[in-house]
Amino acid sequence: MNTTLNDYREVVGPQVVDELLLLADRVRHRRIQHVNSTAVGGGVAEILTRMVPLFRELGLETTWDVIKGNQAFFEVTKSFHNALHGSKETITEKMFEVYRETTNTNLCDFSRTGDFVVVHDPQPAALISHKKETGGHWIWRCHIDVSSPQPAVWNFLKPYIEQYDGSAFSMPEFSQRLSIPQFMVPPSIDPLSDKNRELPNADVTKVLEKYGLDQERPILTQISRFDRLKDPLGVIYAYRLIKRRYDCQLILAGGGASDDPEGEQVLQEVREAAQNDPDIHILLLPPFSDLEINALVRGSTIVIQKSIKEGFGLTVTEALWKGRPVIGGAVGGIKLQILNGVTGFLVHSPEGAANRAIELLGDEQLRDSIGANGRQHVKDNFLTTRNVRDYLLMILAMEHRDKDISLLTSPRR
Ligand code: UDP
Repeated sequence: MNTTLNDYREVVGPQVVDELLLLADRVRHRRIQHVNSTAVGGGVAEILTRMVPLFRELGLETTWDVIKGNQAFFEVTKSFHNALHGSKETITEKMFEVYRETTNTNLCDFSRTGDFVVVHDPQPAALISHKKETGGHWIWRCHIDVSSPQPAVWNFLKPYIEQYDGSAFSMPEFSQRLSIPQFMVPPSIDPLSDKNRELPNADVTKVLEKYGLDQERPILTQISRFDRLKDPLGVIYAYRLIKRRYDCQLILAGGGASDDPEGEQVLQEVREAAQNDPDIHILLLPPFSDLEINALVRGSTIVIQKSIKEGFGLTVTEALWKGRPVIGGAVGGIKLQILNGVTGFLVHSPEGAANRAIELLGDEQLRDSIGANGRQHVKDNFLTTRNVRDYLLMILAMEHRDKDISLLTSPRR
């Protein structure tokens, strides 16, 4: 569905869109180039898919490049990802070599088309080597929590990152001390995308029926890549505790991301843990299942995101926006989104998740009020329009900084 900037007026209010137009006017004729490591799957691709057309509509020429890598490279970057999140990974010199080699291959194909090059996450971070030859403003946009990384990986990446002109983190707690400026830019969801737009009840019912769900009984859902950090096994454990009190069903829906080679193995573990329970629905969704995910979330009584580590957790934002009560692991960006007891519940264990789910299942009014608060919180803070505004402000700030520096360094007349 093609949406235009004007369509957002109804959702976020006309003043928000007018402000974007004003800001965009200040940076017109700048070109933005986004670079990341996957076109589909995962939060970054999700955000870019929706934000790139909006930048274009605001009059900024915007492109999006995806680096290429083989299985070995993505295994290395997945280990880096886990290590940056603080997990214990075995990191070898060979892994750094694989990373450098793939970067060099990508550098051969890379051309700078943006005045502002926004490089997302660690996978393409070393492309910064290109800046020496071609100039431009380079921003490293980090979507993950690098506050307590395994030093080997952080020490390897840091010299690349400090060559950037600026960095952007999703929240202050995720960042590291760096010699370059840092901006705080929480991610966002698009209220008009197929993943998030309003759906008729009949569409929701159709999807629930397709997957054999019984609408008469409570449905608990976690939408996530099959990744240990999303704790799918903890969710199954919690479901079994809840099941003692309520005859509920569980949906674990997820697909793969092309930059996550671990998914297959985790899916296998999930299948084993589910032990053919007919009320556990493990749905392997193909890419672009946005309407189905939208319907599954809308058809759920409670949405769970029991991550052990999390970047921001867009699935939480998506569920809050739909007014669903959400139970989330008290980690990463989930803590920005779930104000405990107000916009959802934060938990630290499967038992905690089960207790909160039981409380919610027994109290429809609580589900409704928590759901309404959650939607308002997203409206105020985590919609695409706010994210686009932050980027425009970041561009302005970097240009002003350049001017200030040139004023400071130019000789007085
Ligand atoms: N997602 C999807 N299909 C799936 C699983 C997830 O489209 O099978 C989407 C999900 O709706 C969300 C994003 O991928 O928009 C996941 O972002 P999140 O920040 O929750 O986690 P990440 O995968 O980036 O760790």
